[in-house]
Amino acid sequence: MRHRIAVVGGGPAGLTFARVLHRHDHPVTILERDPAPDARPPGGTLDLHEGLGQLALDKAGLLAEFQALSRPEGQAMRILDTAGTVLRDWRPDPDDRANPEIDRGQLRDLLLGPLDVRWGRGVTKVVPGTRDGVLVYFADGGQETFDLVVGADGAWSRIRPAVSSVTPHYTGVTAMETSLDDVDARHPDLARLIGDGSLAVYGMNRSLVAQRNSGGHVKVYARFRAPLDWHTNLDLADAEAVRSSLLALYDGWAAPVLDLLHHGTAFVHRPLYVLPVTHTWTHVFGVTLLGDAAHLMPPLGVGANLAMLEGAELAETIATGSEDLDKAVRAFEEQMWVRAGRWAKITTAGLERLVSPDPAEALAHFDQVQPS
Ligand SMILES: Cc1cc2nc3c(=O)[nH]c(=O)nc-3n(C[C@H](O)[C@H](O)[C@H](O)COP(=O)(O)OP(=O)(O)OC[C@H]3O[C@@H](n4cnc5c(N)ncnc54)[C@H](O)[C@@H]3O)c2cc1C
Repeated sequence: MRHRIAVVGGGPAGLTFARVLHRHDHPVTILERDPAPDARPPGGTLDLHEGLGQLALDKAGLLAEFQALSRPEGQAMRILDTAGTVLRDWRPDPDDRANPEIDRGQLRDLLLGPLDVRWGRGVTKVVPGTRDGVLVYFADGGQETFDLVVGADGAWSRIRPAVSSVTPHYTGVTAMETSLDDVDARHPDLARLIGDGSLAVYGMNRSLVAQRNSGGHVKVYARFRAPLDWHTNLDLADAEAVRSSLLALYDGWAAPVLDLLHHGTAFVHRPLYVLPVTHTWTHVFGVTLLGDAAHLMPPLGVGANLAMLEGAELAETIATGSEDLDKAVRAFEEQMWVRAGRWAKITTAGLERLVSPDPAEALAHFDQVQPS
């Protein structure tokens, strides 16, 4: 029997879910709000872990293609103190494939492959329990009914309210993101400082992290503790004003490190929100959640990995399991909650240590998680 299944959101969770169903010849309707795949910048780089994101790609039949595209050398990690002294300089072995990096845009295109996404189909809400199934309402006024609606629509999910009244809360940490282009040619000193992978500098209640993407592109994240309204007197659209404000916040840090801010091209404001670490809900017939919609957590390298593995597992269960769709979804949710809860605790504690009053905490955290 073929169920009428819709997934809302074409991010890592939704696309992996759809791609694995597609591999099993199970039809799925993919509803994405963006009008086109390249409607907005795809974001930075993601490290996909062997037992999580890479396992999901294996289930989608895409592991070999991922290995050809990804950057194992991007696993390199260098840590400096605010005076610019190198404290750690970790490089992967040449055959280390534990957590290679891939640009988000490359991952999206890899997952998209033959999928038929309905672009520009923003969903406003779903109503479960109608006579014909789950009713989906679209931003353009349309409606459609499905047997199962999977909410993979990220942090501010429109599907979540159908199963849970919980909303994300601010962590107390904000990120300002900027970028450097063509870093090897235009900023060779910074290129050498960053190395092949990531550079992190930890100070009191703030950090600067630079991550190499493909093609000489670098993303820089300034993370600091601040009230949500820290920018009341700042025009966030004025790049020079934001730059000055950040340079004041990082005053006293070594000049080569501050060059990351001096040369950044534009700034994006990203206050970090999370869902409660133990977010679960009473099962609702015909609706479930995946990825950030289910368990938004601090961005410490695991959210997309979990989102993808959940997508792959739910799709496999549906495509290969029993006729009882609801039973399959219930079993999946139980499994997802346990694993996500464990990671939510780890990443919440990690954020506390990485943006901490005591920078030694950040170094201790690195030493704990990084194999030497
Ligand atoms: C700076 C940063 C760095 C990160 N680095 C890593 C990393 O290295 N490794 C890692 O594993 N994770 C990382 N993460 C976390 C990761 O980005 C997320 O956990 C992941 O993107 C979640 O995937 P998702 O598919 O659940 O949601 P999203 O990626 O948010 O995708 C949701 C999709 O749903 C669409 N959508 C939203 N609302 C609607 C609607 N109403 N109707 C239709 N479509 C809708 C959106 O347009 C989007 O395409 C990072 C996060 C940040 C912010």
